[in-house]
Amino acid sequence: MIQLVRGFRDILPPETSVWQYVESIAKEHFENFGFREMRPPVLEQAALFQRSIGEHTDIVEKEMYTFAGSKDTMLTLRPEATASVVRAYIQHKLYSVDPICKFYTIGPMFRKERPQKGRYRQFHQINAEVFGVDSPYMDAQLIFMLMTYFARLSITGLRAHLNSLGCPECRPAFRQNLSDMLSARTEKLCEDCVRRLDKNPLRVLDCKKESCREAVADAPSMIDFLCGDCKRHFAAVQSVLDRMDVPFEIDTGLVRGLDYYTRTAFEIQTEELGAQNAVAGGGRYDNLVEMLGGPSQPAIGFAVGVDRLVELVEAKFPAFDAGPDVFFVPMGDAAMEMVAQWVCRLADAGIRTEADFSGRSLKALMRRADRMEAKNVLIVGDKEIAENEAVLRNMKTRDQVGVPMDRLVDTVREKVAREEF
Ligand code: ATP
Ligand code: MG
Repeated sequence: MIQLVRGFRDILPPETSVWQYVESIAKEHFENFGFREMRPPVLEQAALFQRSIGEHTDIVEKEMYTFAGSKDTMLTLRPEATASVVRAYIQHKLYSVDPICKFYTIGPMFRKERPQKGRYRQFHQINAEVFGVDSPYMDAQLIFMLMTYFARLSITGLRAHLNSLGCPECRPAFRQNLSDMLSARTEKLCEDCVRRLDKNPLRVLDCKKESCREAVADAPSMIDFLCGDCKRHFAAVQSVLDRMDVPFEIDTGLVRGLDYYTRTAFEIQTEELGAQNAVAGGGRYDNLVEMLGGPSQPAIGFAVGVDRLVELVEAKFPAFDAGPDVFFVPMGDAAMEMVAQWVCRLADAGIRTEADFSGRSLKALMRRADRMEAKNVLIVGDKEIAENEAVLRNMKTRDQVGVPMDRLVDTVREKVAREEF
């Protein structure tokens, strides 16, 4: 038998109900904040990610699924969504439609990481991106939208970690300072970090290896190097979050694993998922649009890790999947013929239905209805047909009523809709 590829997984029912739920709430919630859905492809030119995420990041150096396309272009299964959204924004000149654009995307990402709990090679993100606004109010609004999204899913125990990564004005001095400090303790750094020290010392701050973490424990903080504009921007983000009662903490070690971030960077962490504790991350990327050939437009966005989010929702609501509203139990050929119609008509009328035509005993079918957590069971046999009245039984209260067969679809639909039964 041909098996799944390692690091990939099937998402099966009933878990898919949770996926549908978190996705539908995201759509509704984000649309309320003025975001529209964009659906870029999962395949892009490799150069798009190399240029945006950065050559010296884990993602570009080791994690991308890249292969030769036609002619000489290398293609990559997207490891993240922002680069694609920016590409589409530039390619379709969306900035000329409206100076401010807000998009969200939902879909799979691909990274060749070591598979483990909460870390897959195909995982899923819900992304939101805003173009054309450099105001700190937008940073705060985005974090507010994210935290209230989690609140709508009844997820608690989340913490927003916040940092500022500065801008091309003030970051070089920080970089130099960090690089000088780390160059003096290369013996503590892992191979990757030593190699990247020159090109990109900030990557060391994001390395998860223990000795690297120790090496940067007393590292300088970007916040101490911020220029006047970045400092004011960061202060404004914090004061708006305060006013909106969004709790957060400053985390000077937070740099994110992608190079394009500027100014505000944030991560939402939980204590409930063990090592894989980041549920969402994001930040400003004010120079990326221009860097990828577009006009100079500030931008900010975030990505929610749906796989980890679903795990949190499942832990909270273990019995998430809803059973059918009506489970039909036909006893005998004549009953089956009638039920065959009713089950379709009722489903078409918006009632979740299920029927069992196996011809097994009443007891066996009732057991199956129970297992499926059916809310109601509709029983029809020869006796019911003779009396022109089916039996509708509420599985929870065990109440039973007769339902006239000639008006069965309408009657059951009304009763179920009113939750009378
Ligand atoms: P981590 O620090 O856990 O590696 P990251 O910083 O690489 O996360 P981002 O690129 O910022 O992650 O993506 C945003 C979110 O996507 C993360 O917060 C996480 O919830 C989720 N995510 C990232 N990589 C994976 C993966 N391999 N499997 C499952 N979820 C992932
Ligand atoms: Mg990662």
